[in-house]
Amino acid sequence: MNSVSFSVFFIGFLLISVCLQFWLSARHIRHILCKRDSVPAQFAKKISLAAHQKAADYTVTKTKLGLLMLMLNVPVLLGFTLFGGLQWLSVTIAGITGPGMLYQLSLFAAFALITGVLDLPFAYYSQFVVEEKFGFNKMTRSLFVRDLIKSSLLGAAIGAPLLWLVLTLMASAGDLWWLYTWLVWTGFQFLMMLIYPTFIAPLFNRFTPLEDDSLRSRIEGLMARVGFASKGLFVMDGSKRSAHGNAYFSGFGAAKRIVFFDTLIEKLSPAEIEAVLAHELGHFKLRHIVKRISVMFVFSLGFLALLGYLKQQVWFYTGLGVDPLLLAQNDAMALLLFMLVLPVFTFLLSPLAAISSRKHEFEADAFAAKHASAQDLIAALVKMYDDNASTLTPDPLHSAFYDSHPPAAIRIQHLLAAQ
Ligand SMILES: [Zn+2]
Repeated sequence: MNSVSFSVFFIGFLLISVCLQFWLSARHIRHILCKRDSVPAQFAKKISLAAHQKAADYTVTKTKLGLLMLMLNVPVLLGFTLFGGLQWLSVTIAGITGPGMLYQLSLFAAFALITGVLDLPFAYYSQFVVEEKFGFNKMTRSLFVRDLIKSSLLGAAIGAPLLWLVLTLMASAGDLWWLYTWLVWTGFQFLMMLIYPTFIAPLFNRFTPLEDDSLRSRIEGLMARVGFASKGLFVMDGSKRSAHGNAYFSGFGAAKRIVFFDTLIEKLSPAEIEAVLAHELGHFKLRHIVKRISVMFVFSLGFLALLGYLKQQVWFYTGLGVDPLLLAQNDAMALLLFMLVLPVFTFLLSPLAAISSRKHEFEADAFAAKHASAQDLIAALVKMYDDNASTLTPDPLHSAFYDSHPPAAIRIQHLLAAQ
């Protein structure tokens, strides 16, 4: 490989992924608008025309915003790489700090700052224009700013030491640095899973033990039936930021806990909450979570090994618009380039992740049908689609490419068959 052919390869993949994203989004929008005038027969008794049309408009608006972001992200990506942005940043910073660890950490910090600033208008627009317009925003502007400050400080406090450790390994651990880095990365991921529920999530939300006695005994009954031990059932004040409802698991081992958004508890009946929880427990009991984490670890090992090879290739830098420094270390630059361009090459694999995720969703639904009630889960799903303004009529191809969950109509068909 030489640098010109690598540039061509990169541009080719970028072009394919951008065209594909535009085409899929255009199909999705067309399909939803076509089906906007009537509620699908299967849902006609449960979802009003107004709610159906709100879901259509909300989905179309979000899809268009996604395209707008794509149109900005492509020039930014090319600006950083082929048009010399990273090269300029690197030379400028090296001129101030000189070569060494400080240069490398500063390069990363500057990159994070620039991309953070570029993303900010979209985050603001999405929350205070789109979510606001459809009645989902519950966030104040001051909370938005506080969240931003807190998450940036947290990212720096956790990210900087981790980055320092990785860069140190890259510089001094020899040819197998990528293997040691993988071990550090894996350990870090486990540590995060352990401390996230108890130390990080509470920085942003309040978690209170579930107080409703009848609901709690109902849930504890379900957990005993399927043999699931957990330290706690918590309600999170999700309504502080958004009207969207959800339930999730976090932590592992003794630290695992089940979290319900207050918005979900409000909207669903106890029997429906039990069915949703049975679905979540299904993911746990059927080892979906362990499988997903294992796959992630295998992929990260493969990617780090690939980076171990690319880091030594001059064409990898020059093909992306960067002159490798002869005297200073290129490790931070290699890492940055790799993180920037990897998604371009892996985009075509996204349907594989979506297929595997949808298979798990069907299995968890079947688990819920067996241990709770399929009818209650269907009722809960319909309410959640209604309340979250999720579309009932996605474009089939768009859905097959991206969606981690099967379309509502198909999911319900499977549930009806499973009861
Ligand atoms: Zn699920």
